[in-house]
Amino acid sequence: MYGAGDVRVETVPDAGLVETTDALVTVTRACICGSDLWPYRKMKPTALGVRMGHEFIGVVAAVGADVRTVKKGDVVVAPFAWSDGTCEFCREGLQTSCLHGGWWGGTELDGGQGEAVRVPQADGTLVTLPVGRDDALMPSLLTLSDVMGTGHHAAVAAKVARGKTAAVVGDGAVGLCGVIAARRLGAERIIMLGRHPDRIALAREFGATDIVGERGEAAIERVRELTGGVGAHSVLECVGYEEALLTALSIARPGGAVGRVGVPQDATIPAGQSTFFDNVTIAGGPAPVRAYMDELLPAVLEGRIQPGRVFDRVTTIDGVPDGYRAMHDRQAIKVMIRF
Ligand SMILES: [Zn+2]
Repeated sequence: MYGAGDVRVETVPDAGLVETTDALVTVTRACICGSDLWPYRKMKPTALGVRMGHEFIGVVAAVGADVRTVKKGDVVVAPFAWSDGTCEFCREGLQTSCLHGGWWGGTELDGGQGEAVRVPQADGTLVTLPVGRDDALMPSLLTLSDVMGTGHHAAVAAKVARGKTAAVVGDGAVGLCGVIAARRLGAERIIMLGRHPDRIALAREFGATDIVGERGEAAIERVRELTGGVGAHSVLECVGYEEALLTALSIARPGGAVGRVGVPQDATIPAGQSTFFDNVTIAGGPAPVRAYMDELLPAVLEGRIQPGRVFDRVTTIDGVPDGYRAMHDRQAIKVMIRF
């Protein structure tokens, strides 16, 4: 990506092993993320450009001398952050804060929206999938890189539990996966705040029981009506704009919790006083999806959840620039790239 609206497919030097803890992965599936749309909207023009993509599945082509848990030929999924798996934060299941980890793409590392990736800290980062490279479950397995794990994180941070009412702000891929997660964790009512008919239809299939198409004050009023005037126990904020966060904070009931996974696009926390007096817990952050794979991978493999349904468009590498445009224009929920 060279700047807002400027995505190019280019030939670059081949990825290769550098450190003894690296793996080289030939990418078989990747995708475009809602968070890739932030720079697509506002990145300043640059001369060198940055490599894009942080969600991918591939086949291990080579490993460094110190790699133990993956081997050549393994089909692997990568979380959206890489991590050593051994530091104090990784051991606590918070791999996004790994002391020796980092993020894909940019100017230093390969991105997932390319044919091959050098994976640092391969043992801590990659998870081997017990399926072939073209298994029918690939779309759902690919969501474990980010959106399914992130929706799950929102639900965990919002303390979704059996019999509770959950509300999901945002009908993008993460919000839709948040519905899957809320249902999986036992929420009795799931209120989806969104207004795109195709996304609402999918939300209902995933388990949303109520739909709120209003925005702002009207949406807050509608959720209050639906919840006996008090609000939801658990609110999943899956957008990142101040208006979405204000809505999320305003529909949490006293003592409720807000799980925020939308990357904040504004510097302020709104509703500071009302959430203080209502003792509302606000938690969340980048999802440690590497930690959640242990729990979510069996659910996908056994067919209990189908988060891969968020992909409503498939392209080749050459179609990636148009894929960004389609997601930006809301013509696609999420675009998968097949190699
Ligand atoms: Zn670590």
